[in-house]
Amino acid sequence: MALVVVVPKDKLTINGTTKSYAKAGSSGKPVHRIFCPECGSPIAHDPEAAPPIIALKGGTLSEADKKALKPDTEIWTVGKLPFCSEHLAKPFEHMPE
Ligand SMILES: [Zn+2]
Repeated sequence: MALVVVVPKDKLTINGTTKSYAKAGSSGKPVHRIFCPECGSPIAHDPEAAPPIIALKGGTLSEADKKALKPDTEIWTVGKLPFCSEHLAKPFEHMPE
């Protein structure tokens, strides 16, 4: 499981150098995977299938920001593992359209 924070792309500024590579997502359209060129840590996924949004990796946020999150949506529950006991308000078996 991974915590991602979906935000409006036009409201986000990433400071510092990043690199990315693109690979087809479940929609068939490219998903740009943005990462730190120094250590390889993933930073965000930028899906061409959903131009207004970008999905930040939750681990990139400050401790204060992470503690303020109130997750309400889970995706890809079709592959949810038995030990994942969280059940959020908006579950999707696959990527929502
Ligand atoms: Zn890094």
